[in-house]
Amino acid sequence: MPSFVNPEKCDGCKGGEKTACMYICPNDLMVLNPDAMRAYNQEPDQCWECYSCVKICPQGAIEVRHYADLAPLGGYVQPMRGTDSIMWTIKFRNGNMKRFKFPIRTTPEGSIKPYEGKPSPGPEALDNEALFTEVEGGRVTCTPSDFD
Ligand code: SF4
Ligand code: SF4
Repeated sequence: MPSFVNPEKCDGCKGGEKTACMYICPNDLMVLNPDAMRAYNQEPDQCWECYSCVKICPQGAIEVRHYADLAPLGGYVQPMRGTDSIMWTIKFRNGNMKRFKFPIRTTPEGSIKPYEGKPSPGPEALDNEALFTEVEGGRVTCTPSDFD
């Protein structure tokens, strides 16, 4: 499901040169209509659904919806940002609603060192299909015969 900007909530980041959603989108999909001072996802079918814009929007103006053919069924994901957490509201197509509350990360940007203390991979790592953390993360290996 791609992101969708609610024009009634978006304030164009109050006229900044680059809005928060434009800054954060890894696929450069968000653009600002300078006349309306509202942002929009210029190419929803290219959306990675990474939720970065949804989480960063200071107005809570971005939600995630189905593509146009399914949108009338009414499912959506809507965040509500607090100072220390985000409350996510999920509406399923059958009308069920669920809410989840997650804390906002409080560690300073760049302070997490995921590779600290880890050995550098050698050339033999190129022949290993396992991801960097798969062994310590408890990898379950499947072979094609598992699906026979
Ligand atoms: Fe609008 Fe939110 Fe994007 Fe700012 S971050 S331009 S308020 S949608
Ligand atoms: Fe860009 Fe991710 Fe937002 Fe899609 S969900 S518009 S890829 S930031």
